[in-house]
Amino acid sequence: MRERLDVVDSVVVPPRDGRAFEVPKGHFFRVVAPSGAQVGDLNLWRRGHLAERFYSGKTRQLHASHVTTGDRLWSNMPYMRPLATITHDTLAWYGVDDDGASIHDVIGTRCDPYTNAVLRGVDYDNCCHSNLTRALAAHEGLAPEEAELHVHDVLNVFMATGFDKDHRYFMKASPARAGDYIEFFAEVDLLGALSACPGGDCSASHSDDATACYPLRVDVLAPHADDLARWTGSPAVQPVALAKRQMCKGAMSEMKTGTELYMSLYPETSSDASLRLGNVVPDFSAETTHGDMPSFHEWKKGKWAILFSHPADFTPVCTTEIGRLALKYDDLQAMDCLVATLSVDPVKSHEEWLTDVVAHCENKIEVKFPIIGDADRAISTAYGMIDPATSDEQDLPLTIRAVFIVNPENKLMLALNYPACVGRNMDEIVRCVEALKLSYEKSIATPANWPNNHAELVVDGKTTDEFKGSVFLLPTVSKEEADASYPGYHTCDVPSKIEYLRLVKQDQV
Ligand SMILES: [Zn+2]
Repeated sequence: MRERLDVVDSVVVPPRDGRAFEVPKGHFFRVVAPSGAQVGDLNLWRRGHLAERFYSGKTRQLHASHVTTGDRLWSNMPYMRPLATITHDTLAWYGVDDDGASIHDVIGTRCDPYTNAVLRGVDYDNCCHSNLTRALAAHEGLAPEEAELHVHDVLNVFMATGFDKDHRYFMKASPARAGDYIEFFAEVDLLGALSACPGGDCSASHSDDATACYPLRVDVLAPHADDLARWTGSPAVQPVALAKRQMCKGAMSEMKTGTELYMSLYPETSSDASLRLGNVVPDFSAETTHGDMPSFHEWKKGKWAILFSHPADFTPVCTTEIGRLALKYDDLQAMDCLVATLSVDPVKSHEEWLTDVVAHCENKIEVKFPIIGDADRAISTAYGMIDPATSDEQDLPLTIRAVFIVNPENKLMLALNYPACVGRNMDEIVRCVEALKLSYEKSIATPANWPNNHAELVVDGKTTDEFKGSVFLLPTVSKEEADASYPGYHTCDVPSKIEYLRLVKQDQV
């Protein structure tokens, strides 16, 4: 998505001053240091809802004290969702230096007139806190006293900070050069405010008019309309605490399934080229042993599907894998799960090799699924099964052994990666589809080794096998809901006395 961006707005923030800006949901924004090393203090709100704002402490807890590409800026409770995701950082190379300093901290706070007055007896009002207050007041038409209540702890853009061996905070000169920028993707409609800190590069003094300071610039960038149309928005995190609060009130909420609860934690689109769980898988057209597949999404429409790659035709492990997978085909079909396999060999080679596959399986199988020929490696690259830099000169441009299990909404639910030297266990793949389908429909999660779990459990002082193959109720299912819907459930006694291991027999789910 970020390959095709157009600048649609630019806001220059003068030195020792602040400015507000707006970013529509699904757009990007960059904070740029156009002239040299200059620290910026950034505030973010959900536009039109100042009560929802960036929560630096939670962001620090979830990511790290310093943020970079891939990290997300979270909002305060009770909203608790990513407001923005960092999609590029030209200072990512800096990492952690010998002093333990990094760039772009969410340690919190900002320079402010109150601390100056308390610690230094100085009256200085071009601090970041004051600049952000004035910027917000001007943009929203608020009185400064009212706007000030909405100014919060910042993301310190371009600032180099760390903690010494005694855990004391320190700052040092920002390494930002003219042109450096940090880029964000707006997950919701955003209102931002940025202050060009009076500390300049924050190498020495803070809060005076003598330090060298430079302007900053915020560029707002629109993605290509086609890319934006495909983005369906990032779901809000299902707040577990809120569900618990409702539970205290005795409210019967609509129970979330395991898929709804856990997949809401992952975005539908990745911020880089990587395919991750929860992402909508790339669509593709392909030649297969069953003829043309014009669209993978159309082919599997509304169904579960497994995309199963193998390194190469006429190789021993692959020959057994395709045979053993064919033996499971009817089981998967019965679960409404389609199968397609793939390697970088052409379709003609697949067809010749299949005779061997069938013969080696005692001629007991019929390969009923299509095998995709990915000779140009386009699919293998899009799905991360092969490195995009793999050259044609390489002797064996092999895909890894990957299994992608995709749900009816085309989201990646599970991925397995095996090296060429280890064949996969087809029973495990069938088990994964069963477990995924169960949590897709029910408010449950499956324990380790399910369905061969909890074969021996002590209930009321007696050892029983009746909970063998049982599943866990999700933490979001309230006690009232559990009592009403799963009357036979068993809560395991653990030293913490926290009632989170709630087993339900599978026939009661
Ligand atoms: Zn400052």
